[in-house]
Amino acid sequence: MDNCIFCKILHNEIPAQKIYEDEDAIAFNDINPAAPVHFLIIPRIHIPSLIECEKTHQQILGKMLLLAPEIAKEQGCTDGFRTIINTGRVGGQEVFHLHIHIIGSKDRLPTMIHKN
Ligand code: AMP
Ligand code: ZN
Repeated sequence: MDNCIFCKILHNEIPAQKIYEDEDAIAFNDINPAAPVHFLIIPRIHIPSLIECEKTHQQILGKMLLLAPEIAKEQGCTDGFRTIINTGRVGGQEVFHLHIHIIGSKDRLPTMIHKN
């Protein structure tokens, strides 16, 4: 997909700190980390967001979710982490290539959603 920054990372057209790759997905550190551990897992196929996912994407979606704890542990998250998928305008998505954020720290992360 032209002009997709994450496709460019996939094709090594722009640099990234890759921490994992296989035939279906890669993971790399977020350029603007929100916590000591903050990486993104993306599929090799260009899917803009969770909204565009279909039944045919079930396998890659499952794989990405299972990769989250595996890579998180490798990155030192031995006591939990947070996963976030921002979706569309309302979800605050900025990069329209599906990605899972994995965020970890040695301390408890701040509450994400404040209820009234
Ligand atoms: P989202 O709001 O879920 O779309 O988040 C996109 C994330 O991608 C942000 O946390 C950015 O810091 C991160 N990001 C943007 N460009 C790059 C890049 N070139 N390398 C690594 N992370 C990036
Ligand atoms: Zn892309």
